[in-house]
Amino acid sequence: MEAQSHHQLNVLFLPYPTPGHMIPMVDTARVFAKHGVSVTIITTPANALTFQKAIDSDLSCGYRIRTQVVPFPSAQVGLPDGLENIKDSTTPEMLGQISHGISMLKDQIELLFRDLQPDCIVTDFCYPWTVESAQKLSIPRICFYSSSYFSNCVSHSIRKHRPHESFASDTDKFIIPGLPQRIEMTPLQIAEWERTKNETTGYFDAMFESETRSYGALYNSFHELENDYEQLHKSTLGIKSWNIGPVSAWVNKDDERKANRGQKEELAQEPEWLKWLNSKQNESVLYVSFGSLVWLPRAQLVELAHGLEHSGHSFIWLIRKKDENENKGDRFLLEFEQKMKEIKKGYIIWNWAPQLLILDHPAIGGIVTHCGWNSILESVSAGLPMIAWPVFAEQFYNEKLLVDVLKIGVPVGVKENTFWMSLDDEAMVRREEIAKAVVLLMGSSQENKEMRKRARKLGEAAKRTIEVGGHSYNNLIQLIDELKSLKISKALSRSMLDK
Ligand code: UDP
Repeated sequence: MEAQSHHQLNVLFLPYPTPGHMIPMVDTARVFAKHGVSVTIITTPANALTFQKAIDSDLSCGYRIRTQVVPFPSAQVGLPDGLENIKDSTTPEMLGQISHGISMLKDQIELLFRDLQPDCIVTDFCYPWTVESAQKLSIPRICFYSSSYFSNCVSHSIRKHRPHESFASDTDKFIIPGLPQRIEMTPLQIAEWERTKNETTGYFDAMFESETRSYGALYNSFHELENDYEQLHKSTLGIKSWNIGPVSAWVNKDDERKANRGQKEELAQEPEWLKWLNSKQNESVLYVSFGSLVWLPRAQLVELAHGLEHSGHSFIWLIRKKDENENKGDRFLLEFEQKMKEIKKGYIIWNWAPQLLILDHPAIGGIVTHCGWNSILESVSAGLPMIAWPVFAEQFYNEKLLVDVLKIGVPVGVKENTFWMSLDDEAMVRREEIAKAVVLLMGSSQENKEMRKRARKLGEAAKRTIEVGGHSYNNLIQLIDELKSLKISKALSRSMLDK
């Protein structure tokens, strides 16, 4: 059987079902397959549908890649069929049900690990138990962390030193200890489970702890972007790590792949938004997106709409809706959409946007981002500067990387880290602040020109790093070679024992 051949490296990938984790892991699995590894991705049926087309197309190009589907326990957790992804949850109860369903898959997945006999498993950071699974099979577990080295280092420092605890006020600035640069933030900007210990803290502690017990960690990042923090991560955690990003640019080169990545519906031939973008001048349009999970409260949507309009710049705005009727039926937003179309200033995309395709369009000149790591990397790859509007979790740490370290971001000024499902219906950021940030980002001041130059330079580095001889390319080859050597030495010692 091929999987047991001495030469064929066989790697299993286990993504966590939320777009910000699953999309980059599937792209990573595809990068491995492109470099001769036999790859199996384990997932549930509805999640498989979001990337199966890309896998089939890779397969038809001759790569060894397949999906192994395990049924999702919908009935057991009381959910209708097909809701298997964190982004499908519209209430905290549903989030709990989907998370519970995912955790129920553990035994089936462990059986698959045993039956498929991989040489290595690459599993999401959110599956700490896979460290023990790998130990039982005497194979390496590589932990896939779907955010930046920077955010991991900040989080580690905060959990270890708890610098915010000696502050009387939640809004006083403190310096994050142990970083190569002086980075300041306020206690309110720390992820809730790190600010104060609560029941979620234990889950995250287990994940971080499992990373340190892994054979190594895989990062969708690249040397030129955050080398200081890659080194700090290695010395702090004492484990190997490989950065092999940006993976989205590596495997989604043509427009069709860019358009259909991460979603099951196929894009129309020439969608209306594309015609609209085609009619715009180069670098004149701002793309506004809060990723795959966040729904901004209505009051904030209204404020954002005014801010965008007041800025005077053109924009294309992705608005997520909880269900078909939400927002679509909102009179203010409908009228705003209509008005912006008529004056050719703005275009709204509802629910899901082909982000890679949009970011790479020459008309796009910048992005408003919630600082999800994938959106940052994809914007960096496209050479774009950003407005940083973090919402929850480590997004506030990523904001610091963009604004203070890389200097390719303008902060919109969010003060409080709030779990996306707990956002109250109020506007945390006012229209004046939004318009000001947009003018700074899209205008032609000297400051803006320099920021744009830095972003463009990083975009070029992102392209070079995944080419033959680039840092990410070399890291990937080195990792694959190391895993092959491990496999061979294991086979040799087995055959010695057999003699
Ligand atoms: N994404 C997309 N279209 C959308 C929303 C999200 O293609 O309408 C993709 C985006 O390009 C990125 C991922 O989904 O690859 C979102 O990950 P990120 O880390 O940016 O944020 P999250 O959704 O995890 O908050």
